[in-house]
Amino acid sequence: MKEGNENNIKDDKENVFGIYGLGAMGRNLLLNMADHDFAVAGYNRHNDKVALLMEEGKGNGVNGYTELPDFIGSLTSPRVIMLMVTAGKAVDEAITGMLPLLEKGDIIIDGGNSHFTDTARRCQELEEKGFHFIGMGVSGGEEGARNGPSLMPGGDEQAYMHVEPILQAIAAEVDGERCVTFLGAGAAGHFVKMVHNGIEYALMQLIADTFEILKKGLRKNDDEIQKIFSEWNKGRLQSYLIEITAAIFSFKNVDSSHLLLQDIKDEAKAKGTGKWTSQVAMDLGLPIPVIDTAVAMRDLTKFKSLRTKAAAIYANAPREQLTGNPVKYLETLEQAFYFSMVIIYAQGMHLLSQASDTYEYKFELDQIAKIWRGGCIIRSAFLEDIFSAFHANAQLEHLLLDEAVQSKLKSSIPCIRTVVSDASKFGLSVPAYAASLSYFDAFRNEQMPANLIQAQRDFFGAHTYELIDKEGVFHTKWSSV
Ligand code: NDP
Repeated sequence: MKEGNENNIKDDKENVFGIYGLGAMGRNLLLNMADHDFAVAGYNRHNDKVALLMEEGKGNGVNGYTELPDFIGSLTSPRVIMLMVTAGKAVDEAITGMLPLLEKGDIIIDGGNSHFTDTARRCQELEEKGFHFIGMGVSGGEEGARNGPSLMPGGDEQAYMHVEPILQAIAAEVDGERCVTFLGAGAAGHFVKMVHNGIEYALMQLIADTFEILKKGLRKNDDEIQKIFSEWNKGRLQSYLIEITAAIFSFKNVDSSHLLLQDIKDEAKAKGTGKWTSQVAMDLGLPIPVIDTAVAMRDLTKFKSLRTKAAAIYANAPREQLTGNPVKYLETLEQAFYFSMVIIYAQGMHLLSQASDTYEYKFELDQIAKIWRGGCIIRSAFLEDIFSAFHANAQLEHLLLDEAVQSKLKSSIPCIRTVVSDASKFGLSVPAYAASLSYFDAFRNEQMPANLIQAQRDFFGAHTYELIDKEGVFHTKWSSV
């Protein structure tokens, strides 16, 4: 059944793009396409969201359907259908339901946050059946979907070329370039989106740590915190996440004299993409400890009653203010934030480069940095530096080895040490700052204490060890304790 009114129903069989799933993301992407004069159609199994689409899209030609055959029948050939449904079994159910109504050569795009292993499987299954499949990460939330998201497509390149004009038209634009590019075969797009989200988790934890320092360490009030984040957003820390943080520190509900933030429970939820990033990194043996700690800290927030008991037992003695010179300390904190932010992106890029080798995605890391510069949640001024680093040297093994990054990072090292040691002295938890510094100190450590770990492993488990100046593996019968 087709829903609509005189203004927004176009001729059937004219639609060049269909979106299946008209939730927050699906509806806004469809409206974005309609704004760019593409004839588009949307399908949702329940009528409420179709009605909402028709209401929001009044006058710009979107068509909404609650019956799958009508929706699919309204699309030109080859049909292009993008799924924007809850990740997981809903995607498989949607594909299974559509296939009998499709023809070989039609294109299915999954734009949800699917796990990359599901995407790899779907790619293969659909290719075997004669369909084209694109797994595409979408970032930017509702606002991005409506006005310009960052799009991370991977899978069937031929199919991508077919839809590229539409994706180019709706994506965010930075310096005249669109934030979309084909990223690689198979699940490349969803892998990149997963790492994007892992970086997002870590940056959010870093900002939360900063809130802790500003509020409990430096005793700043909400207005002062708002101004600090606003100021930071004008400089090299400029980013979407800092920008919305500043906005949160000025948001009050109508008739309320205090920030909405103060009424929100300190228990963070998660949909799992951060955890997937850590799980995959561990499977690949590639360290991303700041992302890991961000996932762990969200988990810790859930244990509110335990934390409350522990707080009573281990209460801190009343704290002094962190510093005698608050202005100078804010400069130190800005430098420390910069340091940790660089480490977070560096870990994400390192994971991408390892995955590129393991899964043969053939990632171009500069291009990934480029499409993250606009539309997405982790967009930031620093992505320009990341782009430049990998653009100048596609073989760059690690972002911290780039000369321009090195020189800026080096000057912030004393500051990260000050902030982490002060926070520790005053009993403030700053896991993102601390994990980034520890990672850095290990990363630059030519002689790590892992020889001792190898000796212990051989001692209790005969796991053997290698020697510095002799080939082979060795086992010693260590004297018992
Ligand atoms: P919503 O919860 O707003 O909408 C979910 C949509 O999926 C609804 O249209 C729902 O239909 C449909 N759906 C769920 N289960 C089924 C099913 N079994 N069969 C058919 N349709 C189903 O989600 P969003 O729009 O926020 O997200 C969609 C996808 O995009 C998700 O994978 C999400 O992770 C991803 N995403 C979300 C972002 C965001 O900021 N919200 C950002 C980037 C990606 P119905 O109304 O009938 O239940």
